[in-house]
This record gives sequence, C-alpha cells and structure tokens, in this order.
Amino acid sequence: MSKRFDDKVVIITGAGSGLGRASAVQIAKEGAKLTLVDLNTGSLEETRQFVLEAAPEAEVLLVTADVSDEEAVKNYVNETVKKYSKIDGFYNNAGIEGKQNPTADYGSNEFHKVVRINLDGVFYGLKYVLEVMKNQGYGAIVNTASVGGIRGVGNQSGYAASKHGVVGLTRNSGIEYGQYGISIKAIAPGAIMTPMVEASLKQMGGDHWEEAGKEFVSVNPMKRFGKPEEVAHLVAFLLSDEAGFINAAVIPIDGGQSYKY
Ligand code: NAD
Repeated sequence: MSKRFDDKVVIITGAGSGLGRASAVQIAKEGAKLTLVDLNTGSLEETRQFVLEAAPEAEVLLVTADVSDEEAVKNYVNETVKKYSKIDGFYNNAGIEGKQNPTADYGSNEFHKVVRINLDGVFYGLKYVLEVMKNQGYGAIVNTASVGGIRGVGNQSGYAASKHGVVGLTRNSGIEYGQYGISIKAIAPGAIMTPMVEASLKQMGGDHWEEAGKEFVSVNPMKRFGKPEEVAHLVAFLLSDEAGFINAAVIPIDGGQSYKY
C-alpha cells in the first residue's frame, strides 16, 4: 500500500528529542527519507535507532548543526540536496525555552541567546530551504511556534519575542511563497510532555516537579499534558500533500487552553 511520504524527503531540526524525534519516527513510518538535524550528535544517533525500529527501510542522514549558525544551516540544506536531490518537507523545529524570569530580571544575554536559536535559526532554515523549494516549484514547511507565540504567558521575554517572531515569519513568508507551490505553516503547541517541559517544571517545582506538573495542567480544559506523538501526527498531516492548501496559518495544539477566557 502506498504511503503519504513515499519518495519524499523531509528535513527535521531539533530531531534529537521531544517533538522533533516523535515527528521523525512518524514521518519515517509513512515512507519518508529523512535528514535529522540537532546540536547533540548522541541524541541524533538515538533518534536514528528509534526511526529504524519503527521503519527499518528508512533512509536517514544525520547532520550535527547549531541552527543559530547560518553556515551550519546552509550546510544541512546542502548535504540534504547532495544526498537526495530535493526537499519535499521541512520541519523547522529546534528551539529552547530559556530561563524563566520577569522582564527586568530576564537578562540581556539570555534574551539574545533565546532569540538567536528560536528566531534566527528558523529564519536561516527558511532562507536556505526556500531557495531550493522555489527552484523545484513545490514544498511544505512547518515552523514550531508555541502558545507563547500567540498569547502572553509570563516570565518568558525571550521565548515570547522569538515565538511571536516565528508566527510573523510564517505569515509573511507564506504570503510570499504560496505562488510557487510552497505552503508554510506554524504549529502552536501548549504544554507537551517532552524533556524541555520536564526541565521547566524542575525549575519551577524542584523535587516536587511532578506535583507542579499536575497543578500546571489543572487549568487546561483537558487536564493533561499533550503527547509528542499527538504533535507528530499534526506535523505529518501539515507536511503531507493533504494539507497543501493550508498556508500562512498558525495551528494551536493545546487542548483548547489558548481559547479559554
Ligand atoms: P526538547 O528540548 O525535547 O528538544 C529540542 C531539541 O532541539 C533538542 O534535541 C536540542 O538538542 C535541540 N536544539 C536545541 N538548541 C539547538 C540548536 N541551537 N541547534 C540545533 N538543535 C538544537 O524540546 P521540545 O519540547 O521537543 O521542543 C521542540 C520545539 O517545540 C521547540 O521549538 C519548542 O520551543 C517548541 N515547543 C515545545 C512545547 C512543549 O510543551 N514541549 C510547547 C510549545 C513549543
């Protein structure tokens, strides 16, 4: 039976953990050839193992790169084209949360660090992938924004600025590139239980972080954290041909929390 990503090439950044890893597994199961990008080489190797367990035939290229380094981004795009000759899908996902503090105490260095990775990194990815996709005349891109990119959350100056920026880039670039057969969308996840969220709960709750987690989701309409696999299904749909007319849109996946008054 044919699969949605048969013969398709997909790049995923932040593929060593969380949402990137779960999406790599899902999209590989659906037939894709992958380029997996992360800062952490060891965790990329682990993701490759998960991918091959789920999809033994999958072709996987690993590229260690810091997405805030423009040359490194250019390199992962070039390596992909060298190996596979095209890019069908791009999950522009790598990001960090940064430390939690009110604005005056947030720290300028922390602010710049978070913006460099979460916003510059997404911009560089768009810049080099769009060059390839425009020449091909097709492609789909999903950027990972956040509920923190569409609502005020608090204690997250760098994260809020960068993720609102990702939403802006998505809308702007989607308008520009739709005419070339390219769709660009963003997802806005709420709290999904990944190592990033675990680290953040530990910063808030210390040894009692699991209790802090329960309290954190008590205001969610669904009273739970999201699962990385739920996000992976959304990402796979958005990168597939089925979602080709969804463009410049920002799609929350948060149990409804961002709509709550
Ligand atoms: P995670 O920490 O589990 O995974 C992030 C991955 O990105 C890690 O493997 C890390 O090594 C990699 N990474 C970090 N900095 C990098 C850099 N400079 N260059 C290359 N790779 C880098 O986090 P996650 O929860 O899977 O988050 C993935 C994305 O989803 C992030 O952009 C995050 O902001 C966003 N997000 C997550 C949640 C959530 O609840 N988990 C909610 C909203 C948005």
